[in-house]
Amino acid sequence: MATTGLVYHEDFLLHEGDRGHPEHPDRLRAALSGLERDGLIDSLVKLEARVATREELELVHTPLCIDYVEKTSRKHKGSLDYETYANRATYHVAALAAGSTNAMVEKLIAGKCRRALALVRPPGHHATASRSMGFCVFNNVAIAARYAQRHCDVHRLLIVDWDVHHGNGTQEIFYADPTVGYFSVHQHPLFPGTGSAGEIGEGEGAGFNLNVPLPAETGDEGFVSAITGSLPNFWQKVRPQLVLVSAGFDAHELDSISQLRVSTAAFARLTEFVLGLAGNTPVGFVMEGGYDMRALADCWHEVARVCIEE
Ligand SMILES: [Zn+2]
Repeated sequence: MATTGLVYHEDFLLHEGDRGHPEHPDRLRAALSGLERDGLIDSLVKLEARVATREELELVHTPLCIDYVEKTSRKHKGSLDYETYANRATYHVAALAAGSTNAMVEKLIAGKCRRALALVRPPGHHATASRSMGFCVFNNVAIAARYAQRHCDVHRLLIVDWDVHHGNGTQEIFYADPTVGYFSVHQHPLFPGTGSAGEIGEGEGAGFNLNVPLPAETGDEGFVSAITGSLPNFWQKVRPQLVLVSAGFDAHELDSISQLRVSTAAFARLTEFVLGLAGNTPVGFVMEGGYDMRALADCWHEVARVCIEE
């Protein structure tokens, strides 16, 4: 059995927009309820959440971008872009999401756990170095990757992004960087519009960015084989010392934001597949999208179960 960590903080519930916005605090309550089912949560090692320092945020984001989030968060109701809201808690909560993902990485590298789950929000993979967008404020996974390199003696990382949307922010941040491999499977065309197979990275990073765009109605077999077919070779190329999964569950068949129609069982298979490739390499699952409450509960339950039973 692998020791599996969990980082979570109830302050993640404080970032809240207008009623009806799909990215709301109940998403996190749902994910947590999935971990509570069958008492799985009792088997998880609780890792301490913490707020990222300004210096940590600047590992990825421009000072202007960070200032803008901070300034917008002084208002009762603000917006960072046309669909990314902010309230008075947003700066704190977004910095807590980034800091907690860094804390998870520290524990993974220190060997305190071999697998870990970061139930954080707001999500991160659309946020670029210079702007928050697509419900994402700071790019939690990208910051954690840079943090691992700067502070944890990790040189090569792999980011596996199975959120139904392409992680344009993460791709852009590491596009010319051969030390961080970015692998994304996503519905295409769909927001944000990037993520074609021809986007392979540039300069020294050429070949270290792999997109697998999939059409609507792909279903389980197509989704799973898109990952099992192309991830192993990419993994060998990157030779990661740490793997971060941008774990969104909005490709789920219950989720009305997309049309890939993937089942809970397929996400369980993919979790097993990634852990099988990883072996002793540490893996952290970081919450991205997912807008159906039952799908979130079921999928996070399965990720935790597979990690614990490994
Ligand atoms: Zn998404």
